[in-house]
Amino acid sequence: MKYDVLNPATEQVVRTIELASEQDADAAIARAAKAFETWRNVNPADRGRLLRRFADAVDADLENLAALEVENAGHTIGNARWEAGNVRDVLTYYAAAPERLFGRQIPVAGGINVTFQEPLGVVGVIVPWNFPMPIAGWGFAPALAAGNTVVLKPAELTPLTAIRLGELALEAGLPEGVLEVVPGRGTVVGQRFVTHPAVRKIVFTGSTTVGKQIMAGCADQVKRVTLELGGKSANVVFADADLEKAAAQAPYGVFDNAGQDCCARSRILVERTAYDRFMELLEPAVKNFKVGDPGDPATEMGPLISAGQREQVASYVDNPAFQGTAPSGPGFWFPPTVLAPASDRALREEIFGPVVAVVPFEDEADALRIANDSEYGLSGSIWTRDVGRAIRVGRGVEAGNLSINSNSSVRYSTPFGGYKQSGLGRELGPDALAAFTETKNIFISTED
Ligand code: NAD
Repeated sequence: MKYDVLNPATEQVVRTIELASEQDADAAIARAAKAFETWRNVNPADRGRLLRRFADAVDADLENLAALEVENAGHTIGNARWEAGNVRDVLTYYAAAPERLFGRQIPVAGGINVTFQEPLGVVGVIVPWNFPMPIAGWGFAPALAAGNTVVLKPAELTPLTAIRLGELALEAGLPEGVLEVVPGRGTVVGQRFVTHPAVRKIVFTGSTTVGKQIMAGCADQVKRVTLELGGKSANVVFADADLEKAAAQAPYGVFDNAGQDCCARSRILVERTAYDRFMELLEPAVKNFKVGDPGDPATEMGPLISAGQREQVASYVDNPAFQGTAPSGPGFWFPPTVLAPASDRALREEIFGPVVAVVPFEDEADALRIANDSEYGLSGSIWTRDVGRAIRVGRGVEAGNLSINSNSSVRYSTPFGGYKQSGLGRELGPDALAAFTETKNIFISTED
């Protein structure tokens, strides 16, 4: 089946691709299962070397990958370069893992006891459209390093960089079948990853609704699963904070990638005594946010991914406090928007667009109550000059990734993932390998 991939900034067709059928998915899984038998036995130093060569191939192709993402996803060129660089860095980081995938020697009576971290088999990675490159890399790099093979399904809307990464893996010398990229429908290819018995683990990033279906489907085979789902993160600003800095940076914490970011700080909670001053500072920062041609290095925000997404985002906006600007004409544009007050729906649901709600709070306890009044728990920020308060509130917010006096969430060397309905398990960082291996225990008798 043919599928037209659009440029969201122009609505023009970029490329027409062939979507895989269930039979195609089965064939890709069979190739990956066959490749597993050799890949798992490639000696650790060589597996590491191949992953470093893959990282080098990504680096050499960085400008091309970034341009593809500008065209296919409307990402700003600055972001797209960072994203391609992130794939390179995650590969390099996990390229060190094959030679360091240590087991343990545990003291026992009557012999020696050792553990091994063994690969699972074929891992299915299902990727959303909002960050096609990094999310693919966070799945395939540790999976491959641990000795698994991977079948990867990009989102229907954004398959182009994943297809290119699959080509680069082959060019770098990864054997055929080790990384299979299978563009197709979620309900066809993604669903097949869940039901196929040779796929031993699913790494899913996407909406909480689909994540729940995936988890239920995996239960049938007790299939391992990692979920990275939605968010409704709070950016908590106390009156003693550097208000100028907090307000200047708040738009980047929510409007980056046009708000299509699971870590978007889409609720700004401001201590009531600083509320008026904060709003005075926020308004020019929002109005001056540069929205336009994503290929222009000065642009700070591009379009939304699709007409459907724009319609969905618009449904939350009624009588905004203020808005920035966005181009008119073709493209799925939406201006940065501030809601104050916001409807209950806008405060609870993930909008996944450039819309932020600002809410006043009374004191520390009130801030925590509002921040935690969400079924999600992915990310968030705390702005204060009081170190004790920063730690207290940081420990009190029910979320997996918090930043103090900063809005940045992602570093490849630190764990990433959500509390509550934002997900299950953690990606990145030193422990991600554990999610791609089984622990095997072997006892060797020393008795005569
Ligand atoms: P989505 O859930 O609709 O789709 C995600 C992926 O799942 C796509 O590849 C899709 O084709 C596939 N899919 C859909 N139905 C499926 C099914 N029944 N079986 C198997 N696969 C299926 O999400 P989306 O709209 O592409 O992405 C946006 C969502 O992703 C947002 O809710 C966002 O918060 C979330 N997200 C979370 C994180 C995180 O790390 N927590 C990161 C990025 C995005």
